[in-house]
Amino acid sequence: MIDEREQDLLELLNSAPVVDGRIVETLDDPETARLRDALHAVIRGEAEAGVLSPYLEGVRRRPVVTSSGIEWVLDAPEPARGRAELVLEWARVQEELPGRLRPCANPECNKFLIDHSKPNTARWCSMAGCGNRMKARRHYARRLA
Ligand SMILES: [Zn+2]
Repeated sequence: MIDEREQDLLELLNSAPVVDGRIVETLDDPETARLRDALHAVIRGEAEAGVLSPYLEGVRRRPVVTSSGIEWVLDAPEPARGRAELVLEWARVQEELPGRLRPCANPECNKFLIDHSKPNTARWCSMAGCGNRMKARRHYARRLA
C-alpha cells in the first residue's frame, strides 16, 4: 500500500528527529535539508505551498516509450531531479490522500506520518515510539490527578 516514493517522502520528512530533546540533522546535503524544512512549514500550515516552487524550476516531464507503453520521466539534472520528485510526491499525497499527511501528535517529536487507516485517526509517527510514550504520560498524569 505504501509505495517507494511515499516512503522516500516520509524518509525526507523524518530526517531531523528529536534525540534527547534536540533536533538532530541527518542529511548531508544542505539544499535537501532546506527542502525538508520548507515541506515541514507547508504541512504545518506555517508557509504557503509556493515556497516549494523553486524546487520545480526548469523541471519538465518527458514521455519515454517502453515495451509496456509510455513512461513519464523527469527531465532535470541531479540532484535537482531527486528534490523535484520529492515535491511531486508531496503534491500527489496532498491530492490523493488529503489531510492524511500530518505531524506526529507528540509535541516533542519532529516526525510526520501518512495515515492509511480507514478511520484516519492515526496520531503518532510510530505506535512503538511516540504512541506508547504519550499513552504512558497520560496514564501517569491520571494517576497523579
Ligand atoms: Zn512521533
